[in-house]
Amino acid sequence: MNIAVDWRAEARRVNFRKEAFIDGNFVSAASGKTFACTSPVDGAVLAQVAECDAEDVDRAVKAARKAFEAGAWAGQSPKSRKRVMLKFAELIHENANELALLETLDMGKPISAARNGDLRAVTECVRWYAEAIDKIYDEIAPAPRTALALIEREPVGVVGAVVPWNFPLLMAAWKFSPALAAGNSMVLKPAEQSPLSALRIGELAADAGIPPGVFNVVPGFGETAGQALGRHMDVDALAFTGSTEVGKFFLKYSAESNMKTVSLECGGKSPNIVFADTPDLDAAAKGAADGIFYNSGQVCDAASRLLVEDKIHDRFLSRVAEFAQAYQPADPLDEKTTMGAMVDQTQTRRVLQFISLGQQEGAKLVTGGKQVRQETGGCYIEPTIFDRVENRMTIAREEIFGPVLSTISFKTAEEAVAIANDSKYGLEANLWTNDLTRAHRIARALRAGTVTINNRDGGGIEVPFGGYKQSGFGRDKSLHAIEKYTQLKTTYISFG
Ligand code: NAP
Ligand code: MG
Repeated sequence: MNIAVDWRAEARRVNFRKEAFIDGNFVSAASGKTFACTSPVDGAVLAQVAECDAEDVDRAVKAARKAFEAGAWAGQSPKSRKRVMLKFAELIHENANELALLETLDMGKPISAARNGDLRAVTECVRWYAEAIDKIYDEIAPAPRTALALIEREPVGVVGAVVPWNFPLLMAAWKFSPALAAGNSMVLKPAEQSPLSALRIGELAADAGIPPGVFNVVPGFGETAGQALGRHMDVDALAFTGSTEVGKFFLKYSAESNMKTVSLECGGKSPNIVFADTPDLDAAAKGAADGIFYNSGQVCDAASRLLVEDKIHDRFLSRVAEFAQAYQPADPLDEKTTMGAMVDQTQTRRVLQFISLGQQEGAKLVTGGKQVRQETGGCYIEPTIFDRVENRMTIAREEIFGPVLSTISFKTAEEAVAIANDSKYGLEANLWTNDLTRAHRIARALRAGTVTINNRDGGGIEVPFGGYKQSGFGRDKSLHAIEKYTQLKTTYISFG
């Protein structure tokens, strides 16, 4: 990182926004209640944040509706919205250090990842949709000479977004960027573990010129604020990222309220398939380690199941274990740190339980497995690798959402595909081979929203991201995301 910043000193100076951001103002929850926002870096309480519930959500939705009806934002030309959103991206860029620090303090990821990974991606995302929105054309359908059939995309109205804590701002940006660009009003509920960056971003949106009521942020708990948004009669679309279990609740909320459209980006148990003919086995081994240890494995498309062709199994796994050494839990505020904290104590305990379950079920613990740095008061787990995992074991079936790799051997391509697809999830799959025909054949056979071949990249904002099966439906990123936040209007004009 080229930015010489004393992050500890910055952390002492930072001014946390603690209240809900509704109709362009910071306000307390109507109940006056707050909840403690705790840092997994060292267990310190960072702030007491407004605990919004149904009443606050209603206030935010009313503000969003009012702004939408008034045309304060939706009524602006695409070019005008573009200018404001480019300014918004610029403000995010200018405040990237502060926002990155909020992410690190709030959910424990290394500061270098927050600054160079998350914040760059957030800025790019806002900028990309800003630039896209005045380049999307509507359609004219075939019609007789005496008629004109227009097909136009209109914003849906009020969009609710409920997001998780693993990439707090980025997951929010994947929703609010296309939704705002398309002219909608938004109500965003961040995860209770990580509300701080969302509150600051609401303020920056307003500073950029997004009118009051268009972008509201309601911190609070899922069961109260999240549910209220899901059940609100005046929310038109609900975009969710989080667990499969909670994703299903939103379908129910919609069915029991106003049939709002729901899009779900849920969990994963992504297979990473490595064949013996892989051209660069070192790149594959590094990819396997990065794929599960980046962000402490708290990644929806983490490559948590490593499927290795039996011929190279031992050799390959020992290389993965070597690359895993690059991930040692350390102080998240140190720029050199590559592995930070787990998000909280609950998640830490959950991951440790999976690790002991893996051992009980007969998998072999190769490395890691322990909680470390307890003296800091924070939540840290070593990079952990299991070998001799069978796909029926719990650690191969459940999304652990921690730095735990499950290694499974296979003999044939058919077997690899069968194991890969034997999961309720279908978010992503990675494939390493030198055989182009086999690569294409397997990519087609894999039931996953993204398949990467000989890389772990998966593409930037230009490509869609989302799941098959119980990993959800609807796509974030790319122009396809706009589909979730617009609806088609047909206008048929007859002049014969
Ligand atoms: P989570 O427990 O499902 O929570 C996600 C969001 O839903 C949070 O804002 C949460 O609020 C809210 N929520 C919880 N219970 C709710 C309820 N009963 N009604 C309404 N809202 C409710 O997920 P998480 O533990 O934060 O995040 C991890 C999960 O996210 C993993 O499964 C991961 O795979 C998934 N994820 C998926 C993607 C993707 O793009 N596919 C990306 C990132 C993460 P509170 O936190 O306040 O309770
Ligand atoms: Mg927190």
